[in-house]
Amino acid sequence: MIPLKGSDLHIPWQKELARAFTTPEQLLDYLELDIAPWQDGLAARRLFPMRVPYPFADKMQKGNPQDPLLRQVLPLADEFAEVPGFVTDPLDEHDSALPGLLHKYRSRVLLILRGGCAVNCRYCFRRHFPYDDNSPGQGGWQPAVDYIAAHPEINEVILSGGDPLMARDEHIAALLNQLESLPHLKRVRIHSRLPVVIPQRLTDDLRDRLSQSRLRPVLVLHVNHANEIDEHLATRLHQWQRAGITLLNQGVLLAGVNDHADSLEALSERLFDAGVLPYYLYQLDKVAGAAHFDVSDDRARALMAELLARLPGFLVPRLVREIGGEASKTPLDLNLEPR
Ligand code: SF4
Repeated sequence: MIPLKGSDLHIPWQKELARAFTTPEQLLDYLELDIAPWQDGLAARRLFPMRVPYPFADKMQKGNPQDPLLRQVLPLADEFAEVPGFVTDPLDEHDSALPGLLHKYRSRVLLILRGGCAVNCRYCFRRHFPYDDNSPGQGGWQPAVDYIAAHPEINEVILSGGDPLMARDEHIAALLNQLESLPHLKRVRIHSRLPVVIPQRLTDDLRDRLSQSRLRPVLVLHVNHANEIDEHLATRLHQWQRAGITLLNQGVLLAGVNDHADSLEALSERLFDAGVLPYYLYQLDKVAGAAHFDVSDDRARALMAELLARLPGFLVPRLVREIGGEASKTPLDLNLEPR
């Protein structure tokens, strides 16, 4: 487990958000790295702004230009490459049922609670998403709640974004009050990377509100590398798990970050140590500007076969790809030969 650094747990999450690194120069200086090799890529933050909170930077190894966490957040010249098949809307999401509501799967709706994120991951499939057109209008969440009320086949609401935990606890609690009044809803699921980059976002107030909900709460984290889980995060995740909140992880297979069996094995082990089950490992969504993170399907299959040989089945995430318009995630056939 990565040792604790600094006293960042005493800084409220909103303050950590406000003081995050927003330029490569600041971050590279903090990490004691020479800026010269990165010079060509600095302008890539005009394509997608840079944002990296201190607690996440503290998990990076100073002086290591190959750090797997740094690679996920540092703008690179590769982002300017135009690669066939890599497009601005890889999941065909730009048309929503209502502002702030996507109804992709029959029994689930996704509410885009907040447009922004605490960290801007360079491979993000929503890096071109028009959040301004997808925030609820003056009626707040009532139109979305009315939509869900009129669709009894929906039993689960997914709070997404951006990152839904960018919303304040009171805001989430108010939305929960509305959702809990809909009898056909069974679960509320929160997809967030924010606790990974600012662990103090897992507040006691939010944990208590979720654990008291009539709706079964699920928190799906987005962790890609074992180094992202330090003691701060693990301690809070244990508290949330003990409060009855189901903890799952979905990561993305990323070239230069986690595309080795040792790395993926360490990730699954550390997730489970922290009370989190590995759930999905995504093949990269082919979003413009992120082709340098792509891992071939053959390589992905080989990695999964290696993981199956090393780990118990419950620690092996399902390798999937999201395809716009499909009714569910599409598992990649591993083409395993019988032993
Ligand atoms: S936290 Fe998630 S939504 Fe936000 S930039 Fe990263 S991958 Fe994209």
